[in-house]
Amino acid sequence: MTFESLKIIEPILKALDKAGYTEPTPIQEEAIPPLLDGRDILGCAQTGTGKTASFAVPILQKLYAEKALRKGTAPKALVLTPTRELATQIAASFSAYGEFVGLKNTVIFGGVSQNPQVQALQSGVDILTATPGRLIDLLDQKHVDLRHISYFVLDEADRMLDMGFLRDVERIIARLPEKRQTMLFSATMPAEIEKLTKRILKDPVKVAV
Ligand code: AMP
Repeated sequence: MTFESLKIIEPILKALDKAGYTEPTPIQEEAIPPLLDGRDILGCAQTGTGKTASFAVPILQKLYAEKALRKGTAPKALVLTPTRELATQIAASFSAYGEFVGLKNTVIFGGVSQNPQVQALQSGVDILTATPGRLIDLLDQKHVDLRHISYFVLDEADRMLDMGFLRDVERIIARLPEKRQTMLFSATMPAEIEKLTKRILKDPVKVAV
């Protein structure tokens, strides 16, 4: 299997080649085609499986295709993840895989001054990666507009639950448009997360590695 055969566009192929990726990992093979088709995904996968590219590549590809049609400074894709480390890694992955697609991505997390993050949001963002607490703070201050999100990733949902972020996550989801594509990843499936998947995913394709 190659990335070409998954119908990845040239600017992204170039970036994957530059990253030294010669072929897709199993989760990428399973998740990329349905995501490019617009399906929701329920992914059972740990970090280390290539999970990030499995959602980042289709999001970049879809936003690239829509670029001419979509105006404004509000983010079009949102990735929620539980920790600052994961958020930083995911944003770095969007920068790497998206080097040649010309989309803006930024990351917000707590524990640091919010001013540079607010400035980044004001200058316009296509893809926003965030931890829940800081995103809620910035939403309450009206520094973030989630009304144009078409692609939503809930990463490490079971860890969100363990860390007590589920209420914040639910408050954020309540601010997203109903019409969107949703990708939920969780290494395990506790009852609360299963309930959440039923509420927020529409006819999802299940991928497990
Ligand atoms: P992740 O599970 O997304 O955190 O990825 C784990 C590691 O695998 C990261 O260091 C990625 O850069 C790397 N990786 C992801 N996809 C591929 C691929 N198709 N080929 C080689 N390495 C990859």
